[in-house]
Amino acid sequence: MPLSPSSRRALDAATDAASLQQDVPLAPFTTFGVGGAADWYVAVRSADELAQVLRVVREHDLPAFLLGTGANVIVGDRGVRGLVIHNQARHTRLDAGTGRLWAESGAIMYPDLIEQAVSAGLSGLEHYVGIPSTVGGALWQNLHFLSPPPERERTMFIEEVLHSADVLTETGERKTVGVDFFNFGYDYSVLHDREDVVLAATFQLEAAPEERLREIMDANLQWRAERHPPLDTEPSAGSIFKKIEGIGAGRLIDDCGLKGTRIGGAMVTHRHANIFVNAGGATAADLCALIDHVRTVVERETGYRLETEIDFVGEFAPPTDTAPMHTPKDPDLVSAEERARQRA
Ligand SMILES: Cc1cc2nc3c(=O)[nH]c(=O)nc-3n(C[C@H](O)[C@H](O)[C@H](O)COP(=O)(O)OP(=O)(O)OC[C@H]3O[C@@H](n4cnc5c(N)ncnc54)[C@H](O)[C@@H]3O)c2cc1C
Repeated sequence: MPLSPSSRRALDAATDAASLQQDVPLAPFTTFGVGGAADWYVAVRSADELAQVLRVVREHDLPAFLLGTGANVIVGDRGVRGLVIHNQARHTRLDAGTGRLWAESGAIMYPDLIEQAVSAGLSGLEHYVGIPSTVGGALWQNLHFLSPPPERERTMFIEEVLHSADVLTETGERKTVGVDFFNFGYDYSVLHDREDVVLAATFQLEAAPEERLREIMDANLQWRAERHPPLDTEPSAGSIFKKIEGIGAGRLIDDCGLKGTRIGGAMVTHRHANIFVNAGGATAADLCALIDHVRTVVERETGYRLETEIDFVGEFAPPTDTAPMHTPKDPDLVSAEERARQRA
């Protein structure tokens, strides 16, 4: 998509002029590692710069997408028309006296923010250790994980420790809002439905012994290592389908015998039935074909219709038109579902 000279001048003025780039491949900026290029790309390095770029986008009516760590998005193989704003606004400020941790919305939850809080003996973020996310992405999706062991009796949500946030509303107003603004739910916030953008957030944390916080972090990292594919060798976008209350999407997929199903380079991992991995050379078209196949089989076999929980961005080629193959399981691997059955 061409940029008019006036839009280009305005974007250059809003950012470090050298940072606006054309035709930038996005796959390396996502955890699944697929997708085409952004017509235009800019990395922003402060909340003010993010706000300025967003104002230009709105004044000039430019199509734009805000990218965090790309852990919950799949980019189409034909790329993104318009501007991708890569949020690298990562300044933070800790007030140990009040337990408040302020962070720009591009701050990385783990290790950066969690390490900062835990080293200061502040509790509230340690549960989310090991999850790839910016602060903005965490609020978009209401980041969640299980409460600490041994009980692990409930799901904890980032909304529980959110004090307030600095947002640029879709009408261009910059203001500080409380938790209610977000209308949080499971995998949901109002950011799904509106063009509001989080510029920064303040978390209210509680004093706790650092040793106990590190125990929780170690236990959660171990839990992940036992059940999830490691991102560096088996790239994924986390869970593909939304939770189905009382059953779990992973359980349904496993019951249909779909683990190890592969289309092109996209595969349902044997480690966890609701996580699809890039097993090498995957395209977004492979992943979309695999998602369609799994959804069709699960609906046919169980009557449940699975809904994706990831965000699809840009233009997609038609899904890959090859028959699914099956990759056998390594006999030594104990999957997440097998662990759950052993515990039940
Ligand atoms: C291996 C793995 C494990 C995971 N485990 C979990 C888990 O246990 N629990 C869990 O909840 N999630 C989990 N996820 C999902 C993912 O980590 C979260 O959804 C995360 O919060 C995404 O953040 P991000 O910065 O990568 O957002 P992105 O994927 O970059 O963006 C996601 C959406 O958020 C929007 N967005 C980003 N920043 C802002 C902002 N500042 N203002 C408004 N909108 C914004 C984007 O425009 C986009 O629509 C996992 C993912 C992976 C890959």
